Amino acid sequence: AKKQGRNGYRFFEPNMNTDVRLQMQLQQDLRQAIHRDELELYYQPKMVAPDGPVTGLEALLRWQSPTHGFLTPDRFLSLAESSGLIVPIGNWVINEACRQMKVWFDQGHGDWSVAVNLSAVQLEHTSLVDVVRTALEEHELAPSHLVLEITESTAMRDAEASLKVLNQLSALGVSISIDDFGTGYSSLLYLKRLPANELKIDRGFITELAQGNDDEAIIQAIIALGKTLDMKIVAEGVETSEQQALLTRLGCDALQGYLLGRPGPAGGLLKEAVPPEKA
Ligand code: C2E
Ligand code: CA
Ligand code: CA
Ligand code: CA
Repeated sequence: AKKQGRNGYRFFEPNMNTDVRLQMQLQQDLRQAIHRDELELYYQPKMVAPDGPVTGLEALLRWQSPTHGFLTPDRFLSLAESSGLIVPIGNWVINEACRQMKVWFDQGHGDWSVAVNLSAVQLEHTSLVDVVRTALEEHELAPSHLVLEITESTAMRDAEASLKVLNQLSALGVSISIDDFGTGYSSLLYLKRLPANELKIDRGFITELAQGNDDEAIIQAIIALGKTLDMKIVAEGVETSEQQALLTRLGCDALQGYLLGRPGPAGGLLKEAVPPEKA
């Protein structure tokens, strides 16, 4: 009989069965992805203005899988987190971003920084501080060239423990950036305690931004808050020159988005050289 509910079980529909199998296959393949050299970092510039210099780059994970194709994080990140694979993958990301940053540094881009996204699972893992310290040492990179991006919800999952780790990372000299700002539920009191240097306004506020609408008022408030807390303000998801002009006028320190440059492989950083990424 078909039973459902709390203590019951439910039959999988045939298509659900294949779905589960696909997820299992995906997880198995993801486990191999690191040493099979299938992971890659794409980089997206943070800039002051479209024709201005690059100030930093955000590393965004890609998986070129021989069986599943070219995958963006939405296809495998939650799997990586639930399986714990995000820890070795995240360590690889930190190390690879530092290695690449050192290459750019040696090429004369001494004013760039590279930003890496962190999951809550990584923040809760005891070795994170050591991993970051070792990567910086190994690639002879000054800590100030590394930015760690965390979302409010990442930090809030275990707020006190996160604060401790973030303080240790900050003491190393790396920068902390609060990603997707405005989408989480952290209190202002908690925000004040975070050792963050940068605040990224979530794309959700930028998409429908127009002069005089609610989003403009919210962005103004976020910028005022961030500046009060002595943070650098970055707007993400900037796609039009109207958005760019307004965000610059409102006082954003840096912009990120398709207008300024799409994520692309490390080799092709010039906007013209980066082929449009398939969505
Ligand atoms: P995020 O950190 O908020 O990164 C920004 C996302 O928006 C990226 O998607 C980027 O490609 C996309 N984007 C950039 N500019 C624009 C724009 O103008 N318009 C639109 N519509 N989108 C834009 P992506 O690369 O697919 O990454 C998605 C999310 O996956 C990231 O969101 C981040 O939370 C996570 N992620 C990426 N790489 C890593 C990683 O190495 N580790 C962890 N833990 N998470 C990662
Ligand atoms: Ca980010
Ligand atoms: Ca973001
Ligand atoms: Ca996001």
